[in-house]
Amino acid sequence: MKNIAVIGAGTMGNGIAHTFAQNDYKVQLIDISQASLDKGMATIAKNLDRMVAREKITEADKEQTLANITTYTNLEEGVEYASLVVEAATENVDLKLKIFKDLDTFCPEDTILASNTSSISITQIAAVTSRPEMIIGMHFMNPVPIMKLVEIIKGYNTSQETYDVVADLSKKLSKVPVEVNDYPGFVANRILMPMINEAIETLYNGVAGVKEIDTVMMLGMAHPMGPLALADFIGLDVCLSILNVMYDGFKNPKYAPCPLLVNMVMAGKLGSKSGEGFYDYSENRKAETVSKMFQ
Ligand code: NAD
Repeated sequence: MKNIAVIGAGTMGNGIAHTFAQNDYKVQLIDISQASLDKGMATIAKNLDRMVAREKITEADKEQTLANITTYTNLEEGVEYASLVVEAATENVDLKLKIFKDLDTFCPEDTILASNTSSISITQIAAVTSRPEMIIGMHFMNPVPIMKLVEIIKGYNTSQETYDVVADLSKKLSKVPVEVNDYPGFVANRILMPMINEAIETLYNGVAGVKEIDTVMMLGMAHPMGPLALADFIGLDVCLSILNVMYDGFKNPKYAPCPLLVNMVMAGKLGSKSGEGFYDYSENRKAETVSKMFQ
C-alpha cells in the first residue's frame, strides 16, 4: 500500500488525507470542486501548524506531509495508481453509487474501495461494482487526525482478506480498528443518534433547557460534550439524515427523528456550520457559546 486516493476534501476527506500523508503514504486528494481542494489543503496546513506549535511534529514533518499530498479534480487521473480509495464525498446515496461505479471502471482490479459513509449500506454500494468482496466501510471519526477509532464495516460480501488489509492499515495510522457488520447506523451512530434524539425530545417536551440537558450529561455521565452541543458540532442535517436511515432500515419508531430536529433543519438551523443550532455561533456570540458548552 503506497498510493491512497481520498475522494472529497471536506471535513472528513481533508482529515483522512492529512492522517495518511503524515504516516508517509502518497495521497491523491480528489474533489469536484477546486475551491474545496484549496480549502481542504489550507485546513491541513493550519492543523499541521498547530501540531508544530505544540511540538508534536517538526517543521520538516509538516513540509513532508504537505508534499505527500497531490490534488486532482479529475477522478480517473487521481485513482490511476491507487492501492486503496477512501471515499468521503457528500452523504448522498445516488452520488456514492455513481462514484463507486466510476471507481470500479477506473481503478486497477486489485484496488480496495472503502467508504467513510456514516449510514449508507456498504452492501448496497458493493452491489453496483464488479468487486463486492473488495468493498468495505472505513468510518473515521471527526476530527480524524485526533480520534483513535476506525469502525471497519464488513458488507455482506466483503472478504476476510479485505478486512485484514484495512484493519492492518488502520493500525499503521495508530488508529484502533473495530470490526462491525453492515446494518443501519453501524455501531457508533446506532447508539449515539438515539441519545442525541432523546436529548432533543427532552428539550421539545420542556423537561429542561439546552444548557441544563448538556450539563446533566457532562457532569453526570462524564461526557466531554453535551449531546446538544455534539449535535451542533456534527450538523443537525447529518443527525436527521442518519436517524432517517435507521428509521427506514429497521422500520422501528424508536428511531423516528424528533419533530423539533426536523423543524430546525427545515429552518436552516444546522448547528455550528450554519452559525446557529441549539447554541448561537455568530461571531459576537461565539465566545459565550463555547463557554456555555464547557461550563
Ligand atoms: P463535507 O460536505 O464537508 O465534504 C464533502 C466533499 O465532497 C465536498 O468538498 C464536495 O465538494 C465533495 N464532493 C461532492 N461530490 C463529489 C464527487 N462526485 N467527487 C468528489 N468530491 C465530491 O462532508 P463531510 O462531513 O466531510 O462528510 C463526508 C463523508 O463522511 C460523508 O459520507 C459523511 O457521512 C461521512 N462522515 C462525516 C462525519 C462528520 O462528522 N462530518 C463523521 C464520520 C463520517
